Parts: sequence; structure tokens; C-alpha cells
Amino acid sequence: MKIDPRQIPESGLTLQGSLPVADYAIPAENITGWNTLDYSLQVSRHGSEITVTGTLGASFQIQCARCLDPIPWQLAIKDFCRIVTVPEDAVADLTPLIREDMILSMPLAPRCELDSAGRCPRSGREFAPGKDDFAEKRRALVWRDLDQLKREN
Ligand SMILES: [Zn+2]
Repeated sequence: MKIDPRQIPESGLTLQGSLPVADYAIPAENITGWNTLDYSLQVSRHGSEITVTGTLGASFQIQCARCLDPIPWQLAIKDFCRIVTVPEDAVADLTPLIREDMILSMPLAPRCELDSAGRCPRSGREFAPGKDDFAEKRRALVWRDLDQLKREN
């Protein structure tokens, strides 16, 4: 998502819509059915500084860290807030900032709700607390993804 500071009026700008998630290169190996990234942003400019605040959201299916079945997931960033300094005649690119916030807000260990007997409502498998846990593996993957981002920038 690019913003041209010259197109931001004195009163600020409201931007709303959906972006193709494919443009954001968010690692999504345990995710299916994710096509768009919804945004609702307020943009204002003070000299060469652009302030962007608002919300980002997405919905998709993610692999349950316990039974490995896909479960529906709503991702919401309610307090996106970035201040970007833009050189004269340049355009602000929010893509890496949005990507970073999305990656950081991905669930580390999404899980389906078990019933009182400890059974997964989807697979019917029974789980003992603390066992069959893929959380550690998922955590390691997130850190690997963030390391990758740092190397790219
Ligand atoms: Zn499950």
C-alpha cells in the first residue's frame, strides 16, 4: 500500500478497503482460505511526517495446534499506528509495516475449543492437557519468519 503525501489534504484522509494478501508475502504455511487483508485507516500529514492509524483485519482457516485440523480464525489489529517520514517528492510505502504487524499478530498456537471431556469438536480426538502440543514448533517458525524479514530489509 503506497500513499502519496501530496494527495493527503489538510483535513486528512480516510482509507478503507481490501488488499490482496498475496502482495504482502506473509508466511502462511498452516493457513488456507486467506485472500484479502481489510483495512480502515486514517492518514494525516505534518510536513514530511505521515501518521497512519486505524485497524487491519483478516479471516482465514488456520491449523489447530492440537489436532492439526483447520479452524476458522479472525485476525484483528485494532491499534495500527505508524509515523513515517517521507522525503520530498517520494511516496510512502506502508507494505513492510503492515506486513510486520500482521506477522506479529498471527496466533502462535491457535486451538479449537475442547468439550468438557477434552475432545476436539471437529476430529473427535481426545487430548490430555499439556500433551500433543505443537505450540513450541509454531513459535520457532515465527521467529524464523521475523529473522527472514530483518535480513530482507
Ligand atoms: Zn483441534
